[in-house]
Amino acid sequence: TERVGTEPSVFTRILRGEIPSEMVLQTDDVFVIRDIAPQAPVHLLVIPKTDAYADVTALAAGDPKLLASMVEAAKVAAQRAGASDFRLIFNTGAGAGQTVFHVHAHVLAAPQGLDEGT
Ligand code: 5GP
Repeated sequence: TERVGTEPSVFTRILRGEIPSEMVLQTDDVFVIRDIAPQAPVHLLVIPKTDAYADVTALAAGDPKLLASMVEAAKVAAQRAGASDFRLIFNTGAGAGQTVFHVHAHVLAAPQGLDEGT
């Protein structure tokens, strides 16, 4: 799916500094922030600076190198947050709970590791 409409996404507004956020990492093409409603001791969002891709399926088809950059940024950001092991989750589609249609990955972790079922 392509992103529809002209309104900037909440993540684009964060990148522009229009909405405050806790920035963890920024590279040429990706930025990482702390999720405003954490579901784990470490809950980060890895977001491409471009809003051209609504979800990971569109990103993988359109720019696989950018998808690889997201995975690398997830690893570095998780380490910075004190976690070497992490879950990387892409909610894909409204029926799966996706609410922001500017592709992003959730990094879920805990410094001592996540328990089963978290
Ligand atoms: P989705 O459900 O689309 O995969 O995830 C969107 C995520 O963005 C949610 O976990 C939500 O808490 C987070 N989020 C939404 N608005 C903001 C915001 O303004 N700041 C931050 N840091 N996170 C946000």
